[in-house]
Amino acid sequence: TVFEYAPAPESRSVVTLRSRYGLFVDGEFTDGGGEPLQTVNPATEEVLGEVAVGIDADVDRAVRSARRAFTRVWGPMRPADRGKYLFRIARLLQERAREFAVLETLDNGKPITESRDVDVPLAAAHFFHHAGWADKLEHVGLGAAPRPHGVAGQVIPWNFPLLMLAWKVAPALAAGNTVVLKPAETTPLTALLFAEVCQQADLPPGVVNIVTGAGDTGRAVVEHADVDKVAFTGSTEVGKQIARAVAGTRKVLTLELGGKAANIVFDDAPVDEAVEGIVRGIFFNQGHVCCAGSRLLVQESVHDEVVAALQRRMGTLRVGDPLDKNTDVGAINSAEQLARIRELVSIGEAEGAQVWQPAGDLPERGHWFKPTVFTDVTPAHRIARDEVFGPVLSVLTFRTPDEAVAKANNTTYGLSAGIWSEKGSRILSVANQLRAGVVWANTFNQFDPTSPFGGYKQSGYGREGGRLGMRAYLKES
Ligand code: NAD
Repeated sequence: TVFEYAPAPESRSVVTLRSRYGLFVDGEFTDGGGEPLQTVNPATEEVLGEVAVGIDADVDRAVRSARRAFTRVWGPMRPADRGKYLFRIARLLQERAREFAVLETLDNGKPITESRDVDVPLAAAHFFHHAGWADKLEHVGLGAAPRPHGVAGQVIPWNFPLLMLAWKVAPALAAGNTVVLKPAETTPLTALLFAEVCQQADLPPGVVNIVTGAGDTGRAVVEHADVDKVAFTGSTEVGKQIARAVAGTRKVLTLELGGKAANIVFDDAPVDEAVEGIVRGIFFNQGHVCCAGSRLLVQESVHDEVVAALQRRMGTLRVGDPLDKNTDVGAINSAEQLARIRELVSIGEAEGAQVWQPAGDLPERGHWFKPTVFTDVTPAHRIARDEVFGPVLSVLTFRTPDEAVAKANNTTYGLSAGIWSEKGSRILSVANQLRAGVVWANTFNQFDPTSPFGGYKQSGYGREGGRLGMRAYLKES
């Protein structure tokens, strides 16, 4: 069936939805043993399709297939030939970019301009980058004979479905591992389209397996005895469960978890540029971003000016149809996530912070939340501490650089941070004191496959991207 909702003619024509989607195991689409789940367009609440659910026996089939492929085909293959497959996948992602972008927007709710300009091109860039690693691993200080772990079990969240897949699959394959990946239950469709790309690229069966389902399926992947390496991106809560499950086994684990990033604005920063960075930091992808700049730390002397300019800018953000190219803020991915955002916002109000939202109506159907800013926030407030994972910004103030650093580091997380200042020496000094895996200066939410990404503290451990990202998929030898 062709999806009827997309208003732009090209959007309607590029995506063909199926009524049922299978698991991708051993190079073929198959049924799963569980009760299928429905995946829904969060902007309309229409069902996009029924998706198979993998049970333990399906995960076992997938892991066996991955093991066979590792032992017989992918492991022994010349690294340069592995690289050719990755290049082929990267080019196919580019060729089918519009299809991937529209499908991602339908399944996730993110604005089409973001899936078109960020998610899909970056996913292709990850495959291009890692294709180049395949035959160069021994020349860059990663050990004399770097060896893959074997079978990688990977579990990813719903906020960047295709991109998180690319972050995980590309380095795993480049290093010579094979993969069993479980996408998030609310956004499985682009992973299954990626499975078609694997077929199209003639990737040997079993090198990539995609097993859809919810947390139980993820647990089966993580706990399977023949998985050598586990890579997880998702909530800190589930990350801790996985760390406990893996403890005492021989499995190697990397975790990319939540965040509560500080975006620090000094009084010498150009206000208009900083406001654009604040908006990009927290409203990009509806704030469903682990490294979102959800705590604005603004120097006291410019607080009123920055907040006034921010509110003016928030008034111009268009919230609505994710397939409309003019949309800035799309739909919240699920009813559960919307409920979580609402709950934290009402706690913020009850605790005495001042809430502000721009005027305007939201669409009647679907899951929506207006861009929201809290002022008069103190470090003790829940909205200053908990990850909202939605378009909600908390504003705190500071007087001196030392106070900014202390407040920025006053969090259990440590994934990212931003600094806005014209003074290079101040940027360097503050950046060196921040306990965050990524620090942006005069920009925010920029990603590149050559840069390692990952957290400190409860944001996880291990890095994805660049040389450090490759290490996660190689045995220390
Ligand atoms: P989640 O932890 O609920 O789910 C993530 C994935 O884990 C899903 O595929 C889910 O089905 C699966 N899962 C759930 N329980 C499991 C279990 N017991 N064992 C194995 N798998 C299980 O997270 P979410 O709500 O999908 O995603 C939002 C969270 O992800 C946020 O906290 C966000 O900060 C984090 N995130 C982090 C990064 C990063 O790189 N650090 C990137 C994106 C998202």
